[in-house]
Amino acid sequence: MSYVDEIYDYVVAKNQAQPEFHQAVKEVLESLRVVIEANEEEYRKQALLERLVTPERQILFRVPWVDDNGQVQVNNGFRIQFNSAIGPYKGGLRFHPSVNLGIIKFLGFEQIFKNSLTGLPIGGGKGGSDFDPKGKSDNEIMKFCQSFMTELYRHIGADTDVPAGDIGVGGREIGFLYGQYKRIRDVYEGVLTGKGLTYGGSLARTEATGYGLVYITNELLKDHGQTMEGKTVVVSGAGNVAIYAIQKAQQLGAKCVTCSDSTGWIYDPEGIDVELLKEVKEVKRARLTEYAAARKSAEYHEKKNGEHGVWNIKCDIALPCATQNELDLDDAKALVANGVYAVCEGANMPSTIEATQYLQQNGVQFICGKASNAGGVATSALEMSQNSERLSWTFEEVDAKLQGIMANIYKNISEAAKKYGKEGDYVAGANIAGFLKVAEAMKAQGIV
Ligand code: NDP
Repeated sequence: MSYVDEIYDYVVAKNQAQPEFHQAVKEVLESLRVVIEANEEEYRKQALLERLVTPERQILFRVPWVDDNGQVQVNNGFRIQFNSAIGPYKGGLRFHPSVNLGIIKFLGFEQIFKNSLTGLPIGGGKGGSDFDPKGKSDNEIMKFCQSFMTELYRHIGADTDVPAGDIGVGGREIGFLYGQYKRIRDVYEGVLTGKGLTYGGSLARTEATGYGLVYITNELLKDHGQTMEGKTVVVSGAGNVAIYAIQKAQQLGAKCVTCSDSTGWIYDPEGIDVELLKEVKEVKRARLTEYAAARKSAEYHEKKNGEHGVWNIKCDIALPCATQNELDLDDAKALVANGVYAVCEGANMPSTIEATQYLQQNGVQFICGKASNAGGVATSALEMSQNSERLSWTFEEVDAKLQGIMANIYKNISEAAKKYGKEGDYVAGANIAGFLKVAEAMKAQGIV
């Protein structure tokens, strides 16, 4: 059996009941087959793949807190410090009831390659909790964040592990987490990114993932002699990534006609009104029904079981920006039947493996999340740099660096794909380019 196949079986056997982690590993290993098989004995002797798929450290902890009725609640906390070969662990915290060890491991594993692709010195990590922020008061959110940090603080630091936000963790949560860290450690350091602008945050960090997604989509289009101008775009999600992807795509002349949340989706043929969407989601933290109620041109569709709605709308470009496995084979078939040109992932692993293969086999340009949503973590690394030099850069400076980083990622993944005989396969290109740098650093640092 080849080393790559052995490692996939090893991962399934050692990490039972973690299907998302298996899926993430499978996608990466398939892409790496051509690299590994060219030098199989050396990789096997070094157990490089076993080391790559095994986190350096896994931290699981209890998070007790008291709700507004005086009832004690208990959640599970996670931090996976996956790989520090090229820099301190870096990756977000997710607060969502679906969070479990397998989900955090899949996200941490993806993060290794994504962070490598940014060209910046950051290793891979991820964390979070099965806490559900929905419907909680600000006071409950604060108590939960303080309890979470009361354990997490001992494992993180500006030069060891620097968490950020993810689903359910935005500016409000980062503020509470940062305050508690500072109180316990008595140091003012850049231990978290996504901070507010008054206490060490970076301009353009809020916008970075969505903007970066559109910048790389634009690079792809340019490379194929096209532009965003006049394109119809469907977007899923209505959170941080989706909102700023819609904003940037519309600034570049495209029309985004959909968005979605966990209970329903909007079709707005006139183009999504971003300011209204921000008001509904960022300020009121309300459902998309409120968007539809305030906008005549919008249709609201309740989410039906197993259906993802937005992918049935005719479009040139699809940007999945909500969550993992939200675009399956049926959705991919609907997109292809409607003539989609490109699918670029804003979320982490939003497309199933079958959907990705179908899209690629049917000539759709496809960029996977670890490349196309890397603008968020890249800008987090820029926030770390600003914190270290105790300076703040202008919005334009950060945005220009982000554009340069996304253009570079596109160039690197295209070239890696070409070099290994897979021209136009940006999934293979991203996995190979991300892996080679990490593998090189791991080999240089010996058996650790
Ligand atoms: P947010 O919490 O801001 O928004 C998530 C959006 O997706 C919300 O609209 C939410 O609906 C919806 N959603 C979440 N879970 C589900 C689900 N199980 N089913 C259907 N809809 C769901 O998160 P972000 O925008 O920050 O993150 C979105 C994706 O992008 C995630 O995959 C994340 O890992 C990835 N990502 C984020 C980065 C960042 O910088 N924020 C960086 C790189 C990747 P509702 O409004 O109902 O909660």
